[in-house]
Amino acid sequence: MKKCDEAMEAQIEGQINSRGCTCMTAVLDPQKSSLKTVICRDCGKKFKTNMDTEYCSDCMKKHK
Ligand SMILES: [Zn+2]
Repeated sequence: MKKCDEAMEAQIEGQINSRGCTCMTAVLDPQKSSLKTVICRDCGKKFKTNMDTEYCSDCMKKHK
């Protein structure tokens, strides 16, 4: 049963350190899934970003 315990520990460690397999931690780790859906204030396009922005990448380029 030792192997089983090690696997369990590795899994818990992975969650704490956010270094585990992404397929396991993507759902459990809020930092990895911080992408939010934003509707661009300029063109109204829905896009996903993890940045604090109200404009899509296209409009950000336009505004620059
Ligand atoms: Zn836009």
